[in-house]
Amino acid sequence: MDPINHLHRRLATINCKATIIPVSRAAEIRDEIFRRNVTGDIHPDLYRLWLTPLFEAAEKKLNGAKSLIVTAAPQYPLSVEFRVQDKTFTTRVPPTYTHGTDYLIHYLITDVLTGYGLTARKAVLPLKLTAVRSGLAAYGRNNVTYVFGMGSFFRLAAFYSDLEPPEDAPWEEAQAMETCDRCLSCVQACPTGAIDDKRFLIRAEKCLTFFNEREQGFPDWIDPSWHNCLVGCLRCQLVCPMNKRHEKSIQFSVAFTEPETERILSNRMSDLPVPMQTKLDQLGLTDYLPVLARNLETLMVKAG
Ligand code: SF4
Ligand code: SF4
Repeated sequence: MDPINHLHRRLATINCKATIIPVSRAAEIRDEIFRRNVTGDIHPDLYRLWLTPLFEAAEKKLNGAKSLIVTAAPQYPLSVEFRVQDKTFTTRVPPTYTHGTDYLIHYLITDVLTGYGLTARKAVLPLKLTAVRSGLAAYGRNNVTYVFGMGSFFRLAAFYSDLEPPEDAPWEEAQAMETCDRCLSCVQACPTGAIDDKRFLIRAEKCLTFFNEREQGFPDWIDPSWHNCLVGCLRCQLVCPMNKRHEKSIQFSVAFTEPETERILSNRMSDLPVPMQTKLDQLGLTDYLPVLARNLETLMVKAG
């Protein structure tokens, strides 16, 4: 079996989809993002804080690669429980945070490629744009990506490899799904007005995720009742008709004990006990420790 077919078959065993494109496409993605920054379509803070470090890291990992393997693995929102004064408070974490499937996919890809004398290493790239342009996913009006059969509940990953890409590897213009032409559900559900039905790119600098992932305080115009996840926001995904068949697929994941909850709320997040650190790792929240106290308190106050 040729390595590309072998790879697709192996990834399909965990319902993961993939595309393989020439590595030169990574530079096109960087240039496209740069153009959007110059034209003002991407907010300067987003470009400076997130995208510039991303591209610097990507440059260092490119050497010798021939292809980019882009993957989408099913992953659902996670349910998280906290205990306060003998009561349970439940909230959610969107599907994009936890990294668990990345390791499994990297293992499966490596396991296949090693048999052909080939390698793969994790790539750091703007994954949504790469997935859309490589034909793996499509944008929704909310700029969340959708994969046929998974809705928006999946995690993207990419890997540099010395695997030869197929000559007819797809490369498409980024555009929204046809379903979005006759739907405004996410526009109506978005509490901040970040989704603008007059333009393709959302105003990411107005998205709740932009604020609740950062340590700076919330601006006054954000109504605390809008928050709906421990980090990030799911409102525009939960109303989307493309997620209809997945809407009940929230997975129970992690329950924090009362002392652990108290520790989060009092923001004592250094030298955590191993069980608590493990729970935060499972949720993919170790990069967000400084914001958890503020976010959790906001959600609890909202819930009364
Ligand atoms: S809610 Fe409607 S407009 Fe928004 S992404 Fe989904 S299908 Fe598109
Ligand atoms: S994630 Fe939330 S704030 Fe951001 S666009 Fe969607 S609904 Fe609006």
